[in-house]
Amino acid sequence: MRTKIRLASKNTCTGCLACLDSCPEKAIHACVRSNGHLYPEIDSGVCVKCGRCMEVCPVVSGYDYQDIARRSEPYAVWANDDELRMQSASGGLFAALAVYVLSQGGVVAGASMEGIEVRHILISGIYELYKIQNSKYQQVVSSGIYKAVKEALRQGKTVLFGGTSCQIAGLSCFLGENKFSGHLYTVDMICSGFPSLLALESFLKHEAGPVQTIIYRDKKEGCEKGQRLSVIFKKEAEAEKVYAGDLVYAAFGTHYTHRSCCLNCRFAVARRKADITMGDFWGDTDFPEQHYKGLSLAIVHTDRGRDLLKRTDLTVHSSAWEKVLKVNFRLVYGKFSFLKFHPARWFYPWLFTHCSYGILLKIYRGAGAYSRGWYPYLVFCKMIGLLEKLQRGRVVLKFLKRMKYYED
Ligand SMILES: Cc1cc2nc3c(=O)[nH]c(=O)nc-3n(C[C@H](O)[C@H](O)[C@H](O)COP(=O)(O)OP(=O)(O)OC[C@H]3O[C@@H](n4cnc5c(N)ncnc54)[C@H](O)[C@@H]3O)c2cc1C
Repeated sequence: MRTKIRLASKNTCTGCLACLDSCPEKAIHACVRSNGHLYPEIDSGVCVKCGRCMEVCPVVSGYDYQDIARRSEPYAVWANDDELRMQSASGGLFAALAVYVLSQGGVVAGASMEGIEVRHILISGIYELYKIQNSKYQQVVSSGIYKAVKEALRQGKTVLFGGTSCQIAGLSCFLGENKFSGHLYTVDMICSGFPSLLALESFLKHEAGPVQTIIYRDKKEGCEKGQRLSVIFKKEAEAEKVYAGDLVYAAFGTHYTHRSCCLNCRFAVARRKADITMGDFWGDTDFPEQHYKGLSLAIVHTDRGRDLLKRTDLTVHSSAWEKVLKVNFRLVYGKFSFLKFHPARWFYPWLFTHCSYGILLKIYRGAGAYSRGWYPYLVFCKMIGLLEKLQRGRVVLKFLKRMKYYED
């Protein structure tokens, strides 16, 4: 039957690219649009209008990402293997889970930096683990991974899939009824969203030139300061070069160039369908001595997740929701509405193609001085920001109250 094809709009598409893997005719490809974000595009000459892409799109299929019947629990965790921990973004939770699954003959899907592109890959040996460790603060190209996971599950292998909540939604829709749930572990993350690739491109053009690889979070000097972010661009013939506070992190930190759906993320809910949610445990005060090497936050949603955590070589301590939500409110509140009204948001594709690097740095490092001409807007944005904080506080308090009710 021929169906009218309607994929998610530019404002709601998460770029999970499950639609690409679903297309039997290979009529969908991924392309980076002028705003520096990745979207699927349908070649209408090849499309047979079977509608499979709509079934696997978590946005248009009406997929509900939360499961309020679950009792999710937060833990402070770190990998007992120091080497694993130091190569990871936070406490090495994901790497430790991966080691367990790989040692049992399973495979692991994670984000790998290939040149300046981030791709979801499937690894089957511990010797490949380094490829998928650490956070990559840019959109991952996930096409191909859904098919690869399905094939591994079909062969009876255990699969650990790590990615953002929207990618896990894409995977769930792609697998559909056929979830092989006994063999699949899903680990999503607290995610503040993806910045535009325009920032990375500008940075490379201006400062670094061609690079071999990028390390977004380096822990050589520890990660106690939380967001002490440095980008290491490794060049072929040069020693590593560390840039701190550059345009790449400015774009990530201020969220002005983020994907539209990330400013109103519907997947930012506490009780998720993943087995475990991972994050940086910035709000912890019980283990101050552990922050230097990185402390992970694990929110366990399922018995399978709890069981996996127990079997893994990790130190695990139960924690409190108050500590989690003190800093990681993004776990339950996915909106950055006030940014939508800011000129640095509205015009960013134009700004990135017309302004010098120095001006971009001033705007996106949040040096408001440059936007003095936009003063009325800035006041307006501040007011909306304040209202947003109130709304966020209300959501967090409501959630804490509900959790207290469950505990009592
Ligand atoms: C864009 C982004 C925003 C984030 N925002 C927050 C936040 O606001 N608060 C918070 O507490 N934590 C956030 N995190 C998560 C945090 O940075 C760590 O990734 C997480 O704590 C896991 O750390 P780890 O030490 O267990 O393992 P790591 O070894 O650091 O984790 C590696 C795994 O994380 C996943 N991953 C890494 N980069 C990507 C990517 N670009 N796309 C999809 N999956 C990826 C992959 O599965 C990868 O294999 C964010 C991560 C990303 C990628």
